[in-house]
Amino acid sequence: MFKANDNFAILPESYLFSEVARKIREFREANPDKELIRMDIGDVSLPLPAVVVDAMRDAATQMGESAGFHGYGPEQGYEFLRSLIAEHDYVRRGIECIGADDVFVSDGAKSDLGNFTDLFGKNVRIAVAEPGYPVYVDANVLAGRGGQEQSGRWSNFTYIECPASAGFRPSLPNDRADVIYLCYPNNPTGVALTRDELKKWVDFALANNSLIIFDSAYEAYITDSDVPRSIYEIEGAEKVAVEIRSFSKTAGFTGVRCGYTVVPRTLRFTFDSGEPADLNKMWRRRQSTKFNGVGYVVQCAAASLYTPEGKAAVKTHVDYYMRNARLLREALVEKGWEVVGGVNSPYVWFRPTVKEGNPGSWELFQKILDTANLSSTPGVGFGACGEGWLRFTGFNTAEKTLEATRRIKELTL
Ligand SMILES: *Cc1c(COP(=O)(O)O)cnc(C)c1O
Repeated sequence: MFKANDNFAILPESYLFSEVARKIREFREANPDKELIRMDIGDVSLPLPAVVVDAMRDAATQMGESAGFHGYGPEQGYEFLRSLIAEHDYVRRGIECIGADDVFVSDGAKSDLGNFTDLFGKNVRIAVAEPGYPVYVDANVLAGRGGQEQSGRWSNFTYIECPASAGFRPSLPNDRADVIYLCYPNNPTGVALTRDELKKWVDFALANNSLIIFDSAYEAYITDSDVPRSIYEIEGAEKVAVEIRSFSKTAGFTGVRCGYTVVPRTLRFTFDSGEPADLNKMWRRRQSTKFNGVGYVVQCAAASLYTPEGKAAVKTHVDYYMRNARLLREALVEKGWEVVGGVNSPYVWFRPTVKEGNPGSWELFQKILDTANLSSTPGVGFGACGEGWLRFTGFNTAEKTLEATRRIKELTL
C-alpha cells in the first residue's frame, strides 16, 4: 500500500508569505481606491538587460539550425559558462583554488539549497541562523531531519540566535552543528559579515569537521572592502564550505532561472564508515542522476553577463536597487527608528518607534499597511529573534520607492 511522505504532514504551511498575501488581498478588497505599494516583494522589477536578451535571441536562432542545435548538455553545465564563472568570480579576485571543475550550473539557488541535502548523512545536525531564509529549515524537515516542531522550532536543529542586541550577527553555537547554513549579506536582515567574523565560522567548521553551506545570493551587493565577496577568501574555506550563487537578484534572472554552486574538489569529509567522501564527485553523481542540466539558451544568457556590457548591466541593476535601499534606509533613520541593512544588501530591516505599547511585527505590518498603504514583511516570520521588526526591499521601482519614502516620512504610529 502506498503511503505518503510523513514529513509533508509535519511541515507547517509557509505561513509568512501566504499570510502577507492574504492580508494584502483583504486590504485591496476593502480599499479599492487606495494605491498600495509593495515593499515586501522578493522579486526584482527591472527587465532583462539588452545584452542578455541578445544572447538569448542568438542562442535561440542557433537552436533552430542543424549546425547550432544543442540537445542534452553536460549535467554540470557547459564548460564555456563554468570557465567564465571560475575565471571572473574567483581566479581574477585572487581565489585561485577554484576552477571550472568545482562549479556546477543550476536553475537557481533555491533548487541547489534544497537538493544538496541529498548529500548529508541521515543523522547530521543542522544549524540555522535565526532570523533566516525558511528554505534551509523546510528542505531538511522534508528530508526527515527536523524531529518534532514546537512553537516554530524543530527539536533536532541547532538554532544560531542573532538577536537585535547583537546587531543580528551570529555567534558560534554551543550545540553540535554538522551542517551550518550561513547567508551573508543576509536575507532578511541585510547584515553582512566582515572577513574576521566569517573567519570564526570557517575555523569552527575546520575544528569540528562541519560543512558550511554559504548562501551568497547577494554577493554582488557588497561594497565594503572588509566584507569578503566569497567565503573562499578565508583560508581553509575550500576544505569545509560550499558556496551557492544566483543570477536572480543581480541580473533579473528570477524568471530566467540560473545560478551556480561551487563544490570544491578540496572538500574533505567522510562517510559513516570513515571512508573519504568526495562531495564534488557526489554532487556530480547526484546531478547526473536527478537533473539534466540548464537549457543552452539560459546558459548563453548567463555567459553574456561576463562580457563588459554584461558586467555594466549587472552594475546598473545593483546600483538601482541599492539606491532604493539607501533611500529607504535614510527615510527610516530620519524618523529615529532602529535600522539595520540597506548597505551591502538590498534589504532594510527596521523597528518602528511607537507612541505606546510594544507591538509585534504583525501588528506593525497591519498599521503601516492601513495608515501608509505600504506592505512589508513581518520579521517574526523569519524566527522569534525578528519579533517587532519588519523588512522592506529595495527591489521595487525607483518611482514607487520614492513615493514609499514620502509616506514613511509622514507616518506616525
Ligand atoms: C532569492 C534568494 C534565493 C533564491 O534564488 P534563486 O536563484 O532565484 O532560486 C536564495 N537564497 C536567498 C537568501 C535568496 O534571497
